[in-house]
Amino acid sequence: MKDDPRKTDGEWRAALSPEQYRVLRQKGTEAPFSGRYCADHSEGTFVCAACGNALFSSADKFESGSGWPSFTQPVGRENVALESDVTHGMVRTEVLCSRCGGHLGHVFDDGPAPRGQRWCINSAALGLERVQLPAADPADPSGPEAEAATERTFG
Ligand code: FE
Repeated sequence: MKDDPRKTDGEWRAALSPEQYRVLRQKGTEAPFSGRYCADHSEGTFVCAACGNALFSSADKFESGSGWPSFTQPVGRENVALESDVTHGMVRTEVLCSRCGGHLGHVFDDGPAPRGQRWCINSAALGLERVQLPAADPADPSGPEAEAATERTFG
């Protein structure tokens, strides 16, 4: 199954792009300002690029100037997992997908009020689901409702 979070390392390597694999499975960090969603202000839900778990809303995205997509909060605290990360001579809080364990980025306490958090996330770890609501048919406004279309892209 495509979105099964219980994959072996070889299955992840085959399922993900090299950059997605490096970030999500090897805790890599993409170069600042290189990611697809850094300057993307589309409306939608950011999902885990590995397993599709909903992670962040465009409504909580803000311009941090850091070079990575930045959010004030996840869509739900249960959607992410946090771990202490003491690599690279720093003490940071790592953010992981709670469903598949993929590395997403880090959370810092220098974000905007009122929450004061900056969830600094790699574009490569994300997909973006844009929901396109169907336009009403002017000739038949009471007609059957068309399905909302969802477009998903990846960072
Ligand atoms: Fe995931």
